[in-house]
Amino acid sequence: MIKKHVVFTFVGKLLLNMKKILVLGSTGSIGINSLNVIRDFPDKFKVSILTVNTKIDLLEKQIEEFAPECVVVKEEGQAEILRKRLKGKTEVLGGIGGLCEAAREYDYDIFIGAMVGSAGLAPTIEAVKRGKRIALANKETLVVAGELVTKLCRECGAEILPVDSEHSAIFQCLVGEGSDRIEKILLTASGGPFLNKKKEDFHNVTVAEALNHPNWKMGNKITIDSASMMNKGLEVIEAKWLFNTNQDKIEVVIHPQSIIHSMVQFVDGSIKAQMGLPDMKLPIQYALTYPERLQSNFTRINLTEIGQLNFYKPDLDKFECLRLAYNALEAGGNAPCILNAANEVAVEKFLKGLIGFSRIPYIINKSLEKIERHLHPDLDVIFDCDRQTREYAAGLS
Ligand code: MG
Repeated sequence: MIKKHVVFTFVGKLLLNMKKILVLGSTGSIGINSLNVIRDFPDKFKVSILTVNTKIDLLEKQIEEFAPECVVVKEEGQAEILRKRLKGKTEVLGGIGGLCEAAREYDYDIFIGAMVGSAGLAPTIEAVKRGKRIALANKETLVVAGELVTKLCRECGAEILPVDSEHSAIFQCLVGEGSDRIEKILLTASGGPFLNKKKEDFHNVTVAEALNHPNWKMGNKITIDSASMMNKGLEVIEAKWLFNTNQDKIEVVIHPQSIIHSMVQFVDGSIKAQMGLPDMKLPIQYALTYPERLQSNFTRINLTEIGQLNFYKPDLDKFECLRLAYNALEAGGNAPCILNAANEVAVEKFLKGLIGFSRIPYIINKSLEKIERHLHPDLDVIFDCDRQTREYAAGLS
């Protein structure tokens, strides 16, 4: 009798400590890596909700392996196809409404925001309102509505843990430090595939060249953003909100080897850096297990094999997108929202072969000139601004 009770209590404790996970965007690069991490800790994590845009074939395999309580397919037609295939075995929600409903009403402890683009904002806000831990890879959420989201986090007791490798590095450097002791954040950037290309040659860059990132294997959107260095611009804005700091304290440093993932310089002049091989599983695992640091079998760095690490100043004249992002952050209000929406449209056009690479900053700049500015936008203004910018940018080429 006593034995049975002890076993029951032990199992009960295990289940209590088990964290339930919602993965927003489970078939993208970060989503797949998140599931790889979760798979390594079956006694710590249980997948409860998975969401995808359209890739229902891969989602079906993930359902088989992880047995979530519910899934969401953003594209309604695909949701219907999956519903028929699953015959009621797993609940299938559809559309952006389904994403928000899952985040608002279903059971989970950690929300992994791995979706690409500002479409991730609405479901993330639902998770914030419930005071959840947000493991955030979807930087657009903070770019578009950083002021609102961070304020809501404070009000609702939600915590954002960065998954973006640079921000995870900064976060790790700050453990045990007061955030008022930061003198400067040194945000590292690989410089992407065009670090040594001349600006005059940007107009005839091909999609394949832009997708050929030297260090990281990522989704198409972020890879193009890395080539234009807009990714670093978005990360400067993300860092401002995550670490509650001024833009003049965030310096971008080109570091082509991508071994140092970012650094923090403190008021006494000391600099801390976080290093690792370019592998997103590490920042994902840290965001899930913080404040614990768990054993992993990720490949270790061999510093003597790497030999040297280099650092350069970014060329803001060549990488116009980075300059535009700094300007938008300085302008504040809805300017970063316009910047982001115009960039999403321009990148999609470039990927489809409709515009040249050098037209990306042109479309963003035009949109920033055209769309009405608001200094303290509420969420409705943000959503409206996002829609208006997309409509306007769609007509540019
Ligand atoms: Mg990054």
